[in-house]
Amino acid sequence: MGSKGIVASTAALSVLLQEGIGDTIRISLTPEPGGDRTREVIVAQEILQTMGLRAFAPMVIACPGCGRTTSTVFQELAQDIQSYVRGRMPDWRETYPGFENLSLAVMGCIVNGPGESKHADIGISLPGTGELPAAPIYIDGKKVKTLRGENISQQFQEIVENYVSKRWG
Ligand code: SF4
Repeated sequence: MGSKGIVASTAALSVLLQEGIGDTIRISLTPEPGGDRTREVIVAQEILQTMGLRAFAPMVIACPGCGRTTSTVFQELAQDIQSYVRGRMPDWRETYPGFENLSLAVMGCIVNGPGESKHADIGISLPGTGELPAAPIYIDGKKVKTLRGENISQQFQEIVENYVSKRWG
């Protein structure tokens, strides 16, 4: 027996999924020049995961940026973390069952970043415009340290690795 197909917007798709309607989902995106269609699979997985239906990979929540931050540092860090997490997934899958439930927040300023950070397993708030060059880290809702220096990304990745090994190892 084949599965039924329904064409819907993301919002309508969410409603259908919440109602338990449908066997499969397919997301169609316009690929970037030279890009492939793997992004469609990732977006479909992210929709199912944000709805709490199934976890496929750790969630990295990054703020969109605004006038509080004029640098691209936080966007690069968010990309670094995404790449790091995806690169570590094959090993984590072997060693740390349940790691896919990890949630990370990468925020662009220390004014509003800590609030979001507290809702993630691990959150980092990068300094925005005019703020001191310091990045507070929250783990399980509590501030544990502040990162400083040139290699914040590397330090943050080590924190993530330690957290995953302790929680799911
Ligand atoms: S966390 Fe800060 S930089 Fe990011 S969108 Fe919110 S206010 Fe702007």
